[in-house]
Amino acid sequence: MQKTIKIFDIPFANTTLEEASSFIVELVKKGEEGYICTPNPEILLESQKNPEFKKVLQCSTMNIPDGIGILWAATHIYNKSSKLKAFLTLPLIAIYPRYFKKVLRERVTGADLVQKICEKVSKENINCFFLGASPGIAKKAAEILEEKYPGLSVNGTYAGSPREEELNDIIERINKSDADILFVAYGAPAQELWIAKAMKKLKTVNVAIGIGGTFDFISGTKKRSPKWMQKLGLEWLYRLIQEPSRWKRIYNATIKFPMKVIFSKTNL
Ligand code: UDP
Repeated sequence: MQKTIKIFDIPFANTTLEEASSFIVELVKKGEEGYICTPNPEILLESQKNPEFKKVLQCSTMNIPDGIGILWAATHIYNKSSKLKAFLTLPLIAIYPRYFKKVLRERVTGADLVQKICEKVSKENINCFFLGASPGIAKKAAEILEEKYPGLSVNGTYAGSPREEELNDIIERINKSDADILFVAYGAPAQELWIAKAMKKLKTVNVAIGIGGTFDFISGTKKRSPKWMQKLGLEWLYRLIQEPSRWKRIYNATIKFPMKVIFSKTNL
């Protein structure tokens, strides 16, 4: 397990896409159990209001930083920067994001992680199950990935919902599929809470991962921002233009989260 950096009491692995995906595939190969979360700034804020969700993040096998805002926060917490410095360096997120890739080395998005894991497990005897997203989306994502990575086995896909009354039915479907890795796309915190509840009853799954809107991106239902925007940490801006109804979530990630980090007594 890699070194961790805590932000708001949530440990983050100092990892890269390559290392995190290898770590996850190794867990499965060794038959070890665990679940992986990919918290972004908005998810961290949610964990501060929701103690059950916070506990789930604290108990996960690995939390992977999915957001340049997490790297910014880690830089200042670890270096014990002044509030003024933390504030003044905020624009660097868009101009020179490399500045924040020292304490935590890389931003690893759920979308990239899923692709990398699928690429690696396509060369192994490891089966996947894709759960969540709107009906038909996970299936389409599976077809695209199976074509891209010959040898990949997605043994089952199902939209379902994170509602309590569907839990046992979904668990039965997954158990029947003989899947080793489960990707869950119900958005945070629903997907992480679902995984924590279901994990004990999943008989064949070793590793479950909450992946947000990843199937929407892979299936082409939603477009990801161009690479240059991703590199500049401006993916949120692209999503705001595409889905203006997300403005509150984006405000939380880009304004509320940095302010909370700067003015929190336990951090800077
Ligand atoms: N979703 C779902 N059932 C629900 C709520 C959400 O399948 O009850 C799916 C939704 O279709 C989407 C994903 O969960 O594919 C969450 O996407 P969102 O964009 O919110 O996640 P993010 O990428 O921001 O974490």
